[in-house]
Amino acid sequence: MHTTETIIIGGGQAGLAMSRCLTDRGVEHVILERGRVAERWQSERWDSLRLLTPRWQSRLPGWRYRGPDPDGFMTKSEVVAYLDEYARSFRAPLHTGVAVTRVHGRGDSFEVQTDSGAWESSNVVIATGYSARAAVPAFSAELAGDIDQLVPTQYRNARQLRAGGVLVVGASATGIQLAAEIARTGREVILAVGSHIRLPRRYRGHDIMRWLDEMGVLRETADQVPDIEASRRQPSLQLIGSDEGGSLDLQVLQDRGVRIVGRMTGVSGHRAYFADNLAESIGHAERKMHGMLDRIDLHLSRLRLTRAFPRDPRPRAVAVPATPRALNLRDHGVDTVLWATGYRREYPWLRIPVLDAKGEIIHQGGVTPRPGLYVLGLQFMRRRNSAFLDGVGADAADLTDHIVQRGARRLLAAA
Ligand SMILES: Cc1cc2nc3c(=O)[nH]c(=O)nc-3n(C[C@H](O)[C@H](O)[C@H](O)COP(=O)(O)OP(=O)(O)OC[C@H]3O[C@@H](n4cnc5c(N)ncnc54)[C@H](O)[C@@H]3O)c2cc1C
Repeated sequence: MHTTETIIIGGGQAGLAMSRCLTDRGVEHVILERGRVAERWQSERWDSLRLLTPRWQSRLPGWRYRGPDPDGFMTKSEVVAYLDEYARSFRAPLHTGVAVTRVHGRGDSFEVQTDSGAWESSNVVIATGYSARAAVPAFSAELAGDIDQLVPTQYRNARQLRAGGVLVVGASATGIQLAAEIARTGREVILAVGSHIRLPRRYRGHDIMRWLDEMGVLRETADQVPDIEASRRQPSLQLIGSDEGGSLDLQVLQDRGVRIVGRMTGVSGHRAYFADNLAESIGHAERKMHGMLDRIDLHLSRLRLTRAFPRDPRPRAVAVPATPRALNLRDHGVDTVLWATGYRREYPWLRIPVLDAKGEIIHQGGVTPRPGLYVLGLQFMRRRNSAFLDGVGADAADLTDHIVQRGARRLLAAA
């Protein structure tokens, strides 16, 4: 059995950020990664994906983008190269191709079984990501067998789809990006829209992310929001990263021929059912968007910068079409349903009772009830940007403090 002080499970950005922080503090550790570095960016994302955050907004502990186009958007292969170079920059103690198969407690330590040997450690940091599996509504089982179903982790490009129409379910970042891409191929696209968050790509001369960063919105902490569980469930921003730098919202999609309907509520064979709430969810997203743009206006006026960054016209209101409560998908030529309905976590290898009824890890800012067991990279774990490339580093630094203090307490107790 190998021994080390801390085992990090997962070699994505969270695992690497954690490793860099532990390295800086002299804490012995390893990263166990079942695939390659940044495996999910390598094998679970569609071909055309670009980050929706600008390149400058990829700051990790001791690492940032230094190339010629900080305001552009990384392709997925750039993200992989960026994280690969990061790992090499501090010689991260990576063991790739090593899948963790079981983690259980052993006194006040842990035994970690893998498909190539066992490890013992004082601490374990679970950095396996928030997107282990695509979340699909249970009613998808009622869909007629002659309609293909797929999830974004399986989608690569529109060529893999049959020739007919596509129903995209979900209008957060993934849903709107894939609806736009598929519509460009000339297929009929219907987009089922539930609650969503709308923001323009640019406002008052800057990328929207620049303002959110400058105002500290993305660094807001869990205790600064009224309902942390609601904030954790928020959908991703309706944004796209592209060379043109334009916005992608429900109006742009309609202008490109995408038909929008309400939230999908059920299906029976070829008949799909939708909620009557489209006007409501669009209205809600627009009020929230104007609230955020008002905050930016106020920020600039407080800094007496209103002249330096002249007001832009506000984004157009989204036209709300008449929405059907039900559609016969066959009549509309739909032969594929693409579920862009979010992600779930899965920890089948975790044999320590720290999961709640929904299978989520119980934690306070990444610290679980089992001393020495931590989780990193969950949505709004400590900060609004906890699951972003740019945010995970601050959480990793906080957990490193915790691990260092725990190590000191254990040493004192043993002395
Ligand atoms: C479609 C999409 C677009 C996104 N766009 C952006 C963006 O524009 N900007 C941004 O900042 N963020 C974005 N994110 C959010 C975030 O950056 C990614 O989800 C990122 O992959 C999270 O990194 P992570 O290290 O937490 O988890 P992951 O990248 O999921 O890494 C977890 C690692 O754990 C490994 N693993 C899992 N189980 C085991 C096991 N049992 N044993 C060993 N290893 C295991 C996996 O192979 C994987 O490599 C996006 C997310 C998605 C899904």
